[in-house]
Amino acid sequence: MPNFSPSFLDEVLSRSDVIEIVARHVELKQSGSNLMGLCPFHHEKSPSFSVSADKQLYYCFGCGKGGGAFQFLMDHDGYSFPEAVEYLAEKAGLALPQENDADRLKSQQEASQRKKALILLAQAADTFATQLHSAAGTKAKAYIQQRGLPEHIISDYKLGFAPDGYGFMQHTFGSDDRSLAQLEAVGLLFKGDKGYGDRFRGRLMFPIRDKRGDIVGFGGRSMGDDKAKYLNSPETSWYHKSDILYGFSEHRDTIRKRKMLMVVEGYMDVLALAAFDLPIAVAASGTSMGERQIREIFRLCESPIFCFDGDRAGYQAAWRALERMLPLLKPEFRPQFLYLPDGEDPDSLLQKEGREAFERRMSEQAKPVLETWLLGLSRLAGSGTDGLARMAKKADEMLLKMSDPYLQQAWKQKVETQTGIQLQNKRQNIRQKGPISLPRPRAKIHSVKHVLHESFLAGLLQKPDRLDILPPEAKLFFLDNEGHNRIYTRVFSWQGSEAYNGMAWAQQLQREFPEAADQVARWMNQEPVLDIEFSGAILDMRKALLQRQMAAPNDLAERQRLAKLETELKQELIKLNAEIEEQRRGNE
Ligand SMILES: [Zn+2]
Repeated sequence: MPNFSPSFLDEVLSRSDVIEIVARHVELKQSGSNLMGLCPFHHEKSPSFSVSADKQLYYCFGCGKGGGAFQFLMDHDGYSFPEAVEYLAEKAGLALPQENDADRLKSQQEASQRKKALILLAQAADTFATQLHSAAGTKAKAYIQQRGLPEHIISDYKLGFAPDGYGFMQHTFGSDDRSLAQLEAVGLLFKGDKGYGDRFRGRLMFPIRDKRGDIVGFGGRSMGDDKAKYLNSPETSWYHKSDILYGFSEHRDTIRKRKMLMVVEGYMDVLALAAFDLPIAVAASGTSMGERQIREIFRLCESPIFCFDGDRAGYQAAWRALERMLPLLKPEFRPQFLYLPDGEDPDSLLQKEGREAFERRMSEQAKPVLETWLLGLSRLAGSGTDGLARMAKKADEMLLKMSDPYLQQAWKQKVETQTGIQLQNKRQNIRQKGPISLPRPRAKIHSVKHVLHESFLAGLLQKPDRLDILPPEAKLFFLDNEGHNRIYTRVFSWQGSEAYNGMAWAQQLQREFPEAADQVARWMNQEPVLDIEFSGAILDMRKALLQRQMAAPNDLAERQRLAKLETELKQELIKLNAEIEEQRRGNE
């Protein structure tokens, strides 16, 4: 992950407009000096979501969500912090900071290659769409109609047809060396013994979009008797299969609004649900569902339904998905698993039983993840006393993958009750099994004092109720920058006030300290300071305070007391820093 300097982040923010980013999802109307609209984060009938153009911040008076451009891209659109920065930088025409000239040149070349590739992929999608509606596409069109997909789905999702035989791509885009090389780079041509050939032939084409909505690849369903029923574009630097969810950019807004998300196995299932006014489905693209995709799914919806065929392959796929989600599970997530009757998929079921019955099935038959896990364990373990032991052993192994200690405890108790066997659950096993951990450079944020003090302040503004967890001596905390110190004193003065509201504080601070207005906006905008990082910052502030107190003249007893306290604090800090490292590794 590149290290963005504060000045670079300021530059990006100054050239971006939070209104434009929000307005893609929310209809905004002028109201006083702000713009108001219906909040995209919670369901409401009258607008309580406000966006300020001069402060470049948004805030919902209904649910309390607030932030700036980076935050909106992260919270709403599912970007990671670096992705949000890169996206806005690219939009603003700013080159990302690079270590040296060679890197800079390389990244410029990559950006221009990406741009060209995306244009070519979009053109290819247009061409395939035209083919679908021509005589060549008759069979594919008939297939779509037989599957009951209405015209608006065909055009909204830009379905297309890649004609039979070879030479279509060259014919359309030219057969000079440059065109051929470009077509190969985006995966539309492959190079064989006899020269270039069309990768997709005689296939119904599903354009696959990334989070930004750009077409980055294709999935093709055979309309003939090819061995591979589905074929996907090869992995390229813009089509990362393990990152992509088919349907994500199209359905993101509806999923948030309806708080419903269904994970299905095929592109046709995604579209079938959309055709029945359930535009809430996503599917993996060319891989089984991985950890990054599951993380994305939880960001979008806390109670997704994972839908699988009711056959052996379906059970196996469900188990794989369950194993992958273990490290990500938190008590507030409520994933469910739904097995369909043998031989059916969402597409075929919707055709047969219609939307209402399908929705009933979703609400009545989907099982919570814990139940699915227990059932899967006992199925794996088999019967008898040995079976119980096998079940306990397997459960123990899997519990180690969970990162949430409360959930882990709760699940452990369930297995112990069910098997009557006490689990071992030794945490060091993780280390023996996992990759050998190499010493990593300590994160910069914890070695540079002023960055630490900044993240302390940012952490307070982002989550104002953190004021309540500050230790009593916090009023003596001293930040190394005079300006920050004044801001901290002001923020601290709000401790115990009626309703904590970081966004209102930020605006107040911007009024009182105009010289720090940009900085305050950046703190509200920047990557969220994790709870554990905030605890680390408190410890560091306490340590600095102690050291100041020790430097003052004291009697012997007081000096000894302070020295003992300092040793304890240092040990606590070392422990916490190790934990932060571990969490970071887990997040990567
Ligand atoms: Zn809201």
